[in-house]
Amino acid sequence: MIVLRSVAELRAAVAAARGGQGRIGLVPTMGAFHDGHLSLMRRARELCDCVIVSLFVNPAQFTDPGDLARYPRDEALDATLAESAGADVLFAPEVRDVYPPGFSTHVEVLGVSAPLEGVVRGTGHFRGVATVVTKLFNMAQPDDAFFGQKDAQQALLVRRMVRDLDLPVRIEVCPTIREPDGLAMSSRNVLLLPDDRRRAPALARALTAVVDAVAAGERDATRALGAGAAVLRAAGIELEYFAAVSTDALEPVNVIAGETLIALAARFGRIRLIDNALVDPAVPRA
Ligand code: AMP
Repeated sequence: MIVLRSVAELRAAVAAARGGQGRIGLVPTMGAFHDGHLSLMRRARELCDCVIVSLFVNPAQFTDPGDLARYPRDEALDATLAESAGADVLFAPEVRDVYPPGFSTHVEVLGVSAPLEGVVRGTGHFRGVATVVTKLFNMAQPDDAFFGQKDAQQALLVRRMVRDLDLPVRIEVCPTIREPDGLAMSSRNVLLLPDDRRRAPALARALTAVVDAVAAGERDATRALGAGAAVLRAAGIELEYFAAVSTDALEPVNVIAGETLIALAARFGRIRLIDNALVDPAVPRA
């Protein structure tokens, strides 16, 4: 694996791979790799001839400066992990190269950016995501790009943006990878205090309670969410949102009739965690 920092070097590597008609795969990340990231890289390795992993802690998507300052960083370890997962290129650009002086262009995806994370983090968050993902697509020119279902709203936003702007990239959304106790892997998990780390698996248990309620025939969204809320209350979780929303527009649903996203965000001191599950009464549980 090679580590590249400039777009010019990256383009040369892409052109070399394309010369051989290779399929380019891109895994956009902010680093501090865990098995969730590595699963995306392994999937890219299965499908693509050249696997590019971008590592860029994107200041534009942090609406809380403290969150940006605390964000865990270890590029040397990340490089080792990315190589072990099959990456060919680790693209780790500098902030000044991604956002040169006078940078003044943004990509905004209306609608799906507004609810859930958009309410809590503000509209700037997904504007930052959409802008940097567009830039990374233009820099690496991938055939395929891989995202995690863990960030369901982000994945939906990227799909919408690619469709709306005719971006020539296929988006693949990969399953959420969890710790043995159910907690969704996240770079922020290492920042949790020990007691918060012990309580955090209640998030996944709450989602499972909703999935179980729907599997048992519950169709009323408020009652289905109630099953999960009881789990969260018992664990003393400070919720930001816990919602049943449509998977296409992220609009609240009252009746769980088709595929529905159950999404939550919680706060453990200064650390926010998000998680989600899909339910669909028409599809029996695996
Ligand atoms: P991040 O570095 O947090 O921006 O995440 C980079 C990519 O990894 C995003 O597409 C995330 O959705 C994905 N990701 C993060 N955590 C997980 C996880 N636990 N399982 C699967 N994918 C994940």
